[in-house]
Amino acid sequence: MKKVAIIGAGASGLLCAIECAKVSCSVDIYEQNSKCAKKILVSGNGRCNITNISLNQEDYFSENPSFVKYALENFSFKGFEKFCSTIGLVLEVKDDGKVYPLSNEAKSVASLLINHAENLGVNFHTETKITDITKPLNEYDCVVVATGSEAASHLGGNRDGQEFALTYGHNIIPTYPSLVQLQLNSNLHTKMSGAKIDGEVTLLINKRAVSKCQGDILFTNYGVSGFAILDISGLASESLMNYQAVDISINLLPKYTAQKLSAHIMSMAQNGQTVNLLDILHGLLPIKIAKTILEKLELSHTINASQINTKLSKKIANQILNWRFEVSDTHGFRHAEVSGGGIDTLEINPKTMESLKQKNLYFCGEVLDVVGRRGGFNFAWAWASGHSAAKDITKT
Ligand SMILES: Cc1cc2nc3c(=O)[nH]c(=O)nc-3n(C[C@H](O)[C@H](O)[C@H](O)COP(=O)(O)OP(=O)(O)OC[C@H]3O[C@@H](n4cnc5c(N)ncnc54)[C@H](O)[C@@H]3O)c2cc1C
Repeated sequence: MKKVAIIGAGASGLLCAIECAKVSCSVDIYEQNSKCAKKILVSGNGRCNITNISLNQEDYFSENPSFVKYALENFSFKGFEKFCSTIGLVLEVKDDGKVYPLSNEAKSVASLLINHAENLGVNFHTETKITDITKPLNEYDCVVVATGSEAASHLGGNRDGQEFALTYGHNIIPTYPSLVQLQLNSNLHTKMSGAKIDGEVTLLINKRAVSKCQGDILFTNYGVSGFAILDISGLASESLMNYQAVDISINLLPKYTAQKLSAHIMSMAQNGQTVNLLDILHGLLPIKIAKTILEKLELSHTINASQINTKLSKKIANQILNWRFEVSDTHGFRHAEVSGGGIDTLEINPKTMESLKQKNLYFCGEVLDVVGRRGGFNFAWAWASGHSAAKDITKT
């Protein structure tokens, strides 16, 4: 009977443990935390966006983009759904392709994985942090490193897996926080803290627009958050790491053109019903944002509607549709959902996840230089890479 050690009882480690134990391997899984699967439990705001129905290379970022292809094709949504049905987990596919457990609870994902692994005889060693990778490699036939990334240190995020890889001479692609909030170099965002809009954000690297996303934008004390911000954050974070100038332009009202917005402001000013400029802006935007726009343009709240002319309405419209902020930093690994960079996948077999530098040593999940878009792609990678490793370990 093959003896397998898995380091890390997160998404990829648990799936790999189940697949190995199914084919009568003896599996020990080591977890530093007292509780397993902490990231699964908090994922998707407690609902767990468990995968996506359509998984493509283009949904991932890596120095070696084609690395993910084989594993994702071999454990596509259909394969994963079948796996879930064997552990009794029913999935629900949403219109946008995101997949959630039908229970709508991340808890059901974590407990079904853990219970199923235990029923198959997997030995759980919680509160056991592996510090030296050479020991398990001497004691077991195969060792799987599924220790995740540095993201969310309060849930167990660390760089242990990279340290293990360094022991065997692996190259590490520099890591950066991704799916993370951004800090702004401005004294105005704090005044809008708590205000949320459905807007559009454009990311500028060295003053050139490189990416655009629509969705929630939330102003906070440190900067900005919300889905639109998370979606551009990976590229922003990687550029900051490379000392590039990073700015964002926020369009607070993407449904308007500059002409239409300026005409709206003029018509409100002329209809005799609206008293002042702040009222006109508050008819379009949350009050904190409306007030801060006036402060930015050094305009008084009490400017009377009759004082608003075309030049002023255009100036205000341009500010609303293109508000530039310098990004000073990300909100850091502590608050990030995932990490970009990691173990260089050029030194990993894409079909098996085995190290090309050390036989019987496998790496799977986020510890590798693979990071996905928001939408279930990061779990999809954890499942697919854990599956590939297990398939190779259990082959006869
Ligand atoms: C707040 C939040 C929300 C998220 N929501 C989603 C979502 O909805 N959809 C999605 O696709 N992705 C989501 N993610 C990302 C997703 O959780 C990760 O991509 C995924 O968990 C990675 O799986 P993994 O198995 O590689 O690592 P992990 O799940 O992080 O598991 C690694 C495990 O290894 C343990 N460990 C580390 N070092 C050691 C050691 N030396 N010895 C023993 N144990 C060790 C850790 O404690 C941890 O339990 C979210 C992440 C966060 C933080």
